[in-house]
Amino acid sequence: MLDIEGLVVRYGAREPVLHGVSLEVAEAGVVALLGANGAGKTSLMRAVSGTLPLHGGSVAAGSIRFLGQEFAGANPAAVVTGGLVQVPEGRHVFGALTVDENLDAGAITVRSRETRTRTRGQVFEMFPRLAERRRQRAGTLSGGEQQMLAIARALMSQPKLLLLDEPSLGLAPLLVKQIGETVREISRDGVPVLLVEQNAAMALSVAHRAYVLELGRVVLSGPAEELSRSDEVRRLYLGEDDTEDAARDLAVPELARWTA
Ligand code: ATP
Repeated sequence: MLDIEGLVVRYGAREPVLHGVSLEVAEAGVVALLGANGAGKTSLMRAVSGTLPLHGGSVAAGSIRFLGQEFAGANPAAVVTGGLVQVPEGRHVFGALTVDENLDAGAITVRSRETRTRTRGQVFEMFPRLAERRRQRAGTLSGGEQQMLAIARALMSQPKLLLLDEPSLGLAPLLVKQIGETVREISRDGVPVLLVEQNAAMALSVAHRAYVLELGRVVLSGPAEELSRSDEVRRLYLGEDDTEDAARDLAVPELARWTA
């Protein structure tokens, strides 16, 4: 469905931050994109959603094909109209508007009133807490509820592919679990998801495939289940460091310095 080939992204005249990244998302399921701070995950999302220029960046090479159409360098409106909808990092909701009004804003590209009503019903079924708070101003919702609303608003536009950028960021463990379940439900309902996450444990538990990005390059990819068993992923991203090895790696140079 989404086919990214040899993507090079740069900000201004600086060295590229993505160096020929290739990635595929199929017509169903969840694909996770993992990586530490600064790996280039958000830059890739911006390239796909057409928002790079808003951040002083550009696609220097490569292609982003979605359902056969080229989107590299396309403007954000064309991308959304094409069915690629992004929920950016940071729980952006319209704080002064109610939950209902936020959802209306998400449905702005949907012409049919009947479709809007039906989608709202589905969204409220998925997020009953939002249904209870539909007349509450979004700015007064909790962090978890705002994240749910940001996802719900994106779903109102009936995306063909949903791009989620770090939805678990800054949320308590129980809420992270809920976000994971929501992502699973969205994909079960027929909307594929490209999930960018630093929380590898959550992402790998819901994803079918995953890619690991390091310093702008894909260093690992494969079925999520396989990656979650990989020693490297366990050590670097799942916090399952071999304590003895880690202590030895750290202790030797430290000791050497102190005893010198
Ligand atoms: P994080 O998890 O911290 O959000 P990330 O994997 O999403 O990190 P990016 O935000 O894409 O990584 O950053 C990749 C590189 O691009 C970093 O070196 C960063 O400093 C640089 N970068 C990001 N945005 C800009 C910008 N607007 N202008 C210049 N450089 C930028």
